[in-house]
Amino acid sequence: MIIRGGRVVTERGIQHADIAIAGGRITAVGHGLDADGEEINAYGLHIFPGGIDSHVHFNDPGRTAWETIANGSAALAAGGYTAFVDMPLNSRPVTVGGAQFDVKLAAASSSSQVDFGLWAGLVPGNLDHIDELVARGVIGFKAFMCPSGIEEFPDCNKHILREGMHRIAAARSILLLHAEDHEIIQRHIHKVHGNTARDFARSRPAEAEIDAIFRAIELSEETGCPLHIVHVSTVIGAELIREAHERGIDVTGETCPHYLLYIEDDLGRIGGNGKCAPPFRSAHDRDGLWHMLAVGTLPIVVSDHSPSTPDLKLGADFFHMWGGISGCQSTRQLLLAQDRLDVSRIAAITSTNIAVRFELRGKGDIAPGFDADLWLVDLSGTDVVRRADLLYRNPFSAHEGQAIRGRTVKTLVRGEAPGRGRFIRGGART
Ligand code: ZN
Repeated sequence: MIIRGGRVVTERGIQHADIAIAGGRITAVGHGLDADGEEINAYGLHIFPGGIDSHVHFNDPGRTAWETIANGSAALAAGGYTAFVDMPLNSRPVTVGGAQFDVKLAAASSSSQVDFGLWAGLVPGNLDHIDELVARGVIGFKAFMCPSGIEEFPDCNKHILREGMHRIAAARSILLLHAEDHEIIQRHIHKVHGNTARDFARSRPAEAEIDAIFRAIELSEETGCPLHIVHVSTVIGAELIREAHERGIDVTGETCPHYLLYIEDDLGRIGGNGKCAPPFRSAHDRDGLWHMLAVGTLPIVVSDHSPSTPDLKLGADFFHMWGGISGCQSTRQLLLAQDRLDVSRIAAITSTNIAVRFELRGKGDIAPGFDADLWLVDLSGTDVVRRADLLYRNPFSAHEGQAIRGRTVKTLVRGEAPGRGRFIRGGART
């Protein structure tokens, strides 16, 4: 197959080129490639490496009234994504041992429209399952420094975290950490007296994230455990990670569209659909995170798609609502509409950098030998996020009404229309 005449967007820049595909892989990128089969006309279109969303909560199996892998992966494909890595806490059972992993793998294998990897959990009591989970091919482990919102997935105190990081380092895997300090949150919850959106935001101050990231980096340095901080919301937190990375500590961070688009003042307008943890921050944090993405010191943007049924987002008490934002369909289109990053940078932070960091072999670039995971998009198309277009099991989002740019013309997963997602096997890191 030849994709003819598109503008190929990679982290290296934009190039007018044809792309040749055989057996699901890219075999050549260049001018005037010989046609020897199906030909796709891509004149006027941009072609990105398929997006990789390494932070979604698809709730499947076991909580499929909230989200399903079929719905979530279809939403990703509609937004130019060809792979995801699913979090371990929202399915039933939670992914904390080999047997639970097998159940999750079977569910995803039967219904995912795009390729997928799986995170396992690090929780109190499952330290002896780390090796078997690595052997089964998890991409890495996820742990919390504060309650996760899911009873079966408790957070780790610093002793369990330290021991877990020793074991994950020995197994040559990686730890993802939700870094908000439980004690600081507790202290602030006692200080706020209401239950509004603003009270909720005040109960989880920037200090809780910054303090937790600081300690997590110390533990990474001490144990040698590769570390990735999820959903960084503060510019100081992101700078701590950058500084540690520059000192040679194996730590990275990510942020999400909602921290780039909204600030605390927007919570009143958006309401429960905008509740997430950590909460929206200041304009200073928002602009600082954009700047770090632009200069390359913050490498990754993911959706943290964390849906629920709509009833769990209603009510007067903001503290008791489900915390999580539905958004995985729109990540790239939201970033493109802001026009604050060039398209090469967007390809890097939504695909290439993620594949490199998590060692997803054959993913994340448009070059010979890589999987033909491609997004063909018309960048002249602009719109807003509309509920009617959302493919989630529960189609609502904090992003409704937000500007998007880029009309998906075609998403290809290993050269084919989405429909038969394959397991991306992780293992010991190289
Ligand atoms: Zn999450």
